[in-house]
Amino acid sequence: EPGARIPVLVIGTGYGGSVAALRLAQAGVEVHMAEMGMAWDTPGPDGKIFANTTSPDYRSFWLRTRTKQPISNFLGYPLDKDVPRYTGILDAEEMGGITVYQGRGVGGGSLVNGGMAVTPQRENFGAVLPSVDADEMYDVYYPRANTELGVSTIDPAWFETAACYQYARVGRKHAQRSGFPFVFVPDVYDWDYMKQEAAGTVPKSALAGEILYGNNHGKKTLQQTYLARARATGKVTVSPLHRVVSVAPAASGGYTVGMEQLDTGGAVTATKTVTAGRVFFAAGSVGTCKLLVRLKANGALPGLNGEIGKGWGDNGNVMCGRANHMWDPTGALQSAIPTAGIDNWAAGGAFAEVAPLPTGIETYASFYLSITRNPHRAEFSWNPASGKVELNWQTSWKQPSITMAKSIFDRINAKEGTIYRTDLFGAYKIWGDHLTYHPLGGAVLNKATDNYGRLHGHSGLYVIDGALIPGNTSVNPFVTITALAERNIEKIIAADF
Ligand code: FAD
Repeated sequence: EPGARIPVLVIGTGYGGSVAALRLAQAGVEVHMAEMGMAWDTPGPDGKIFANTTSPDYRSFWLRTRTKQPISNFLGYPLDKDVPRYTGILDAEEMGGITVYQGRGVGGGSLVNGGMAVTPQRENFGAVLPSVDADEMYDVYYPRANTELGVSTIDPAWFETAACYQYARVGRKHAQRSGFPFVFVPDVYDWDYMKQEAAGTVPKSALAGEILYGNNHGKKTLQQTYLARARATGKVTVSPLHRVVSVAPAASGGYTVGMEQLDTGGAVTATKTVTAGRVFFAAGSVGTCKLLVRLKANGALPGLNGEIGKGWGDNGNVMCGRANHMWDPTGALQSAIPTAGIDNWAAGGAFAEVAPLPTGIETYASFYLSITRNPHRAEFSWNPASGKVELNWQTSWKQPSITMAKSIFDRINAKEGTIYRTDLFGAYKIWGDHLTYHPLGGAVLNKATDNYGRLHGHSGLYVIDGALIPGNTSVNPFVTITALAERNIEKIIAADF
């Protein structure tokens, strides 16, 4: 309600925000969550909540009139098409020459991601979060996050026989023949459900190619886990299609928070202000940084320190495809949920997920998303001329990622006598080096905040999302974001509430 006084406002409903909401509510605190995206709880005219990856429609993209699919071309044909402008689920936000993909809606990135739930190797943790006690994380908070998220690993016996993982078995064969460690990667998908999909006894989701624009079944998003439990406390309310635009100290104590209510065309239908005792920034790395950098620059939050906006990285994401021989088909039916990876982190700085290419036809292609140890870090800053927050990422900064990914795929190609695909990202382009799925950093733990996410300069303001992590997690990030949020909120509740 406009003008209301509330104890806690959480900006965003992704991993960090959902952890904060659940734990605060369990501690007896009333929590309000503002989410700029939609609720994603109502079926469209086709009876489904989410659109299929192979046929994007109005639900697929956040306020675009043309799709911007991560794989833009196939066999010489461009794949993008016009769609009605709508508050769809996947944002392809272009900043500083990099397209940053993000989920929009109640559940944040959990709505659109592959559900790959990876805990970093313990020996790499010191580089991921240098100021955090690793023992505590691996003994308490990683296990807690994995349990609450519903993480599990594919039944290895089923993996060996399932037609939908032929592509992953080919990926394993090629990795192992070149001497690379091949690892199963846990996921939040319900593997029993997937078995039933394969048996034809339930509606198909992963086996129908659903992923990028949402899964109608099978995937445990935050809507089924943290947010469901948060709502069950009766203490958490969520306002979808509410975008937070300002936060400033209130004369009466706490913070005045300004919000815009959106319609599904993206138009502002109302502006509201509430007063919140405490505010948690959980709008995702980019969302949180866009707010903090602007609020510092325009004097709304003058106490924020000089670390705001710094230390942003892309988790070293780079994609590529390989063209296999005719005797190595990857399967016409491919589960959209990846379940395995090639670990060359220690030797080559790359961890590659063996990804699906769920086109519905045999492509003889192997496809990979690599996470690499890219050293480059960008900074968000306020540009008064454009009135926008900008990111100084450089397109050439992807070169170290390509070199690291090549440490795996050049060797596999040489061993197998195969070549890279050159048709997936535009004509004669091997590397998908224009994007990231894993934006991280910009309000780094123990720099922009104290060692638990309390922003310097204004008491009662916290960061609790991927913005805290300095640019790289060595694996897919959401388990680390969740575990860090669990660690920080426990301390914050004990000390501040
Ligand atoms: P988010 O989950 O991004 O949540 C932030 C929320 O805040 C969003 O819902 C957003 O709409 C909302 N918001 C932003 N600004 C405002 C505002 N001003 N007002 C109100 N609300 C706002 N990670 C993995 O670990 N495994 C994977 O398999 C994986 N696959 C991925 C696949 C894709 C296609 C994408 C895009 C990402 C993938 N990721 C994966 C990354 C993962 O989803 C993110 O790292 C994670 O969601 C980040 O969590 P967060 O809490 O920082 O923020």
